[in-house]
Amino acid sequence: NISTSKDQQDGRKLANGDCKNQQVLARRQLILQHRKSLPIASVERRLVEEVRKNDTLIIVGETGSGKTTQLPQFLYNAGFCRDEKIIGVTQPRRVAAVTVAKRVAEECNVELGQKVGYSIRFEDATSSSTRIKYMTDGLLLREALLDPLLSRYSIIIVDEAHERTVHTDVLLGLLKKVQLARSHPTTNQHNFIKANAKGREDESRSFSPLKASESAKSTSLKLIIMSASLDARCFSEYFGGAKAVHVHGRQYPVEVLYTYQPEPDYLDATLITIFQIHLEEASGDILAFLTGQEEIESVERLVHDRIRQLPDGSQNLLTVPIYASLPSEQQMNAFKPAPSGFRKVILATNIAETSVTIPGIKYVIDPGLVKARSYNPVTGMESLIIIPTSKAQALQRSGRAGREGPGKCFRLYPESEFSKLTDSTVPEIKRCNLSNVVLQLKALGIDDIIGFDFMEKPSRMAIVKSLEQLFLLGALSDDYKLSSPVGQQMARLPLDPMYSKALILAKEFKCLEEMLIVVAMLSVESIFYFPREKMEEARAARKSFSSPEGDHITLVNVYRASAECLEKSKTTNSKEKTMEKKLNKWCRENFINYRSLRHARDIHSQIEGHIRQMGFSPSSCGDDMLQFRRCLTASFFLNAAMKQPDGSYRALSSSQTVQVHPSSVLFRTKADCIIFNELVRTNQNYVRNVTRVDPLWLPELAPQYYAADS
Ligand code: ADP
Ligand code: MG
Repeated sequence: NISTSKDQQDGRKLANGDCKNQQVLARRQLILQHRKSLPIASVERRLVEEVRKNDTLIIVGETGSGKTTQLPQFLYNAGFCRDEKIIGVTQPRRVAAVTVAKRVAEECNVELGQKVGYSIRFEDATSSSTRIKYMTDGLLLREALLDPLLSRYSIIIVDEAHERTVHTDVLLGLLKKVQLARSHPTTNQHNFIKANAKGREDESRSFSPLKASESAKSTSLKLIIMSASLDARCFSEYFGGAKAVHVHGRQYPVEVLYTYQPEPDYLDATLITIFQIHLEEASGDILAFLTGQEEIESVERLVHDRIRQLPDGSQNLLTVPIYASLPSEQQMNAFKPAPSGFRKVILATNIAETSVTIPGIKYVIDPGLVKARSYNPVTGMESLIIIPTSKAQALQRSGRAGREGPGKCFRLYPESEFSKLTDSTVPEIKRCNLSNVVLQLKALGIDDIIGFDFMEKPSRMAIVKSLEQLFLLGALSDDYKLSSPVGQQMARLPLDPMYSKALILAKEFKCLEEMLIVVAMLSVESIFYFPREKMEEARAARKSFSSPEGDHITLVNVYRASAECLEKSKTTNSKEKTMEKKLNKWCRENFINYRSLRHARDIHSQIEGHIRQMGFSPSSCGDDMLQFRRCLTASFFLNAAMKQPDGSYRALSSSQTVQVHPSSVLFRTKADCIIFNELVRTNQNYVRNVTRVDPLWLPELAPQYYAADS
């Protein structure tokens, strides 16, 4: 009977729908309960009151207490978003901005990008209805270029201020100015606006000082500085004695264990510790701190290999990586609970120290190392080095084990080493190349960089060096003001000044298409995969892309081959998912890192967008790679090196001795003169991403630096 069977079907549909509804309701209930149970929930009213009373407030609270996810919601509910104003929350890390925004959107039961959104470089998930906006600190700095008074924001929360990234430090100085200008529009504003508007005639959105001061009159800007560790005093002093409040977190005891001896191979020690915990300790997830993507991926593979060797009953171990450049949907995997009966081991960089809070962790493995930027103002060279953590970092890491119950932390170094660690990390502004910062401040109309109110002043030498660099790149004119149009164009691109310059020059050299690819590929970590156990196969695979001229052209070849693979699968089957699968397979066959390549493709399309907005249209130099290498020389002339009789190289700008990194295609074939993009310091100085150039091109293409007679 037809009618009964249809009724039955409807009945089933209804039951299914009910079931789904119930699941949704249960999830909402769970989230509500979770929110109520957070330590910050009990002080909601007090916090809102403090924000009302104070223009600047410092909030210190332990990681996991609910600052980042809850405070913006409290303030929204308290009416701080009236008149279409926005609450902005800055994060030093992209990962945090994305994961937190997703979480808060879910907590608010709204679609991401509506009321709650995020905006990071190369990715914008906001709309005109966004009221709570998570973003990177660097992005807010860029917004200030278009809207110097940040007039859309009623509150700006600078989160994770203890990290003291270079962007946070610059932002704090800028926000101090903006706040002053918005609270005293008539006295302080004109100078500020005039200065900012200078040199920005190209902006269609330039505005008159009067209009800006009118709109600013209505609201002052509230500033909230949030920090995990207890360094409230320095922030308070910097903001003229601003009030600081503490939010107490929950912390259970964490047993800290050390090794007897220093560990010669910390990756191996990490691996052993993971399995020791897995096989001997009670249930609970593991968080291991490593220094970067490459390390994480290699440990991940080793863990998988070893799981396979375990007896059936103990194979219930799962790995989840989390690091800054991981695509965001994969980052979210770290937050998903492991299937029942499984133990999860999270392999993370220091982003899991404070930026993201992953529930369920009971064991922490801390090799005691971190990858950090380091800058030598005498040579002007920035490099990445792996250094011991500070005491503060070690404490943050171990604290992660005791959020939900008592935990254990395994420090992979002897106890005597702990006392030798520095108390806290040196702010990044004191150990990085400042060219980017100086360029942005110049673009904001702040010309006196040495006099800028930094929380901690970078050395005069470092500032002078970066001014010099920007001048040599043509971003500054003779009087050290932003040059037109090169400096203005460079400031608009969200890239390192040298890369921006490379794109601008590539237009003239007619190889913009190639340079765009190179800049995108250089913006991600390790495109090539070199698994220890399949070294030879990997080398052979790379050979098919290798250019004898060097790594840059090799990267272009990889990118083009991957694009071809996508193009082919497009014609056979145009479903995006299948295409991605094809690409993934292609990557595995060719020992290319799929995650990195995808990231590079995203970055490529974003930069292309910027470039097109600036009126550039990418054109290719075809097979004329000479032209392309000349363009590389004209852009990266500050990173040139000459071969020495002993086969090493001498960097021309710093006279440092450097070696070509073993990962370079030029590792064995020694070119007389090279340009490079990256300096890595381990036991030696290594240069990576290297291309062979003609030494005569240096004085020809960079006469401002290489006088013809020298
Ligand atoms: P804080 O900023 O004080 O360190 P957060 O607001 O980031 O704290 O996090 C509070 C709690 O919310 C965490 O302990 C964690 O349990 C939960 N949480 C945060 N982000 C997520 C997420 N993406 N998925 C699941 N739970 C999350
Ligand atoms: Mg937080």
